[in-house]
Amino acid sequence: MRIDLHTHSRASDGTDTPAGLVRAAADAGIDVLAITDHDTAAGWAEAAGAAAEVGVELVPGMEISARHRGRSVHLLAYLPDPTYAPLTAQLDLVLNGRESRVPVMIERLRALGIDITADDVRRAADGTAATGRPHVADALVTLGVVRDRDEAFAEYLGWGKPAHVDRYAVPLVDALRVVAEAGGVTVIAHPWGRGGLGRPDDQALGELQELGLAGIEVDHQDHDDRARARLRAIARDLGLVATGSSDYHGDGKNDHELGCNTTAPEEYARLLELAGEASRRSGRVTPAVVG
Ligand code: AMP
Ligand code: FE
Ligand code: FE
Ligand code: ZN
Repeated sequence: MRIDLHTHSRASDGTDTPAGLVRAAADAGIDVLAITDHDTAAGWAEAAGAAAEVGVELVPGMEISARHRGRSVHLLAYLPDPTYAPLTAQLDLVLNGRESRVPVMIERLRALGIDITADDVRRAADGTAATGRPHVADALVTLGVVRDRDEAFAEYLGWGKPAHVDRYAVPLVDALRVVAEAGGVTVIAHPWGRGGLGRPDDQALGELQELGLAGIEVDHQDHDDRARARLRAIARDLGLVATGSSDYHGDGKNDHELGCNTTAPEEYARLLELAGEASRRSGRVTPAVVG
């Protein structure tokens, strides 16, 4: 049983269509796949259609761009009602913030002598619900300015680089609350990864658990063996669900192949159990796992 609970499609900054993502998962021998595009449920319907065809179990989810104590935090939300207004209001603020800074980034790149236009970025972002830095990066690749997304972030778009522009992120406490109200469950993505929370310890993670956090993503490419061992111990001590995932972005991220990390079946079962409880508590109509 191979379970991959964190993947991206063209609905955000992955390079596969949602249906293509599901087919690629089937080809990679994945039995259970969560689609978790950044700040959007836009890929769910297409992915569900493909999942039913190829026999992959699909978990609808999203990765919410949040912020806690001044740091960027990615929060995976599984099975929330995607129509819950306080949730969509927060997601719209992120998506609008992400789009509205693109012209500013283009201006800064042009000031550096790079001949990039809004059309270049629009072409790169074709089909996405969440135009962001990765699409500006793709435009820079197409223009031959950089080799790949990594280089674009390292030279221009990353934190502290000349074309970096900040954007809105959901206060983490609000993100935890609205997902619970929407009947979903939350798992903190790559908590000890690059640009993350700043390695939250057991106490910090315990505080987030009290605010509703259900699990932590232990097995992720950003975590070395030592980090994984320590996070697994923290999850066990606190009773948090421990997940493992690829964070696949298609060709958009190197070394994140589907199934490169996976979630244990018993951890997945606990996550589904908690999602069921959250759904009942919320009184809302929440999406079902497909397949
Ligand atoms: P944005 O929300 O527009 O600020 O874009 C952030 C997204 O860019 C992250 O969620 C990552 O998926 C992606 N990203 C960040 N750093 C890199 C990198 N070095 N290479 C490729 N993608 C990256
Ligand atoms: Fe991404
Ligand atoms: Fe992330
Ligand atoms: Zn991700």
